[in-house]
Amino acid sequence: MPDKTCACPHCKCVLGTDAIMKDGKGYCCQGCAEHHAHGEPCASATDCECTKSAHG
Ligand SMILES: [Zn+2]
Ligand SMILES: [Zn+2]
Ligand SMILES: [Zn+2]
Repeated sequence: MPDKTCACPHCKCVLGTDAIMKDGKGYCCQGCAEHHAHGEPCASATDCECTKSAHG
């Protein structure tokens, strides 16, 4: 099974065991699954710009 990356547009995180499935897509963390609607940070490590990108 190939590695899948997070469906959050600017997130390049690879889905791990904590991946969240939503609407048929996989997200690396709850923040991504919610499209950072409340400014949740990406749970993954460092230098992921998806939160910034999603929230201006
Ligand atoms: Zn991310
Ligand atoms: Zn993500
Ligand atoms: Zn994200």
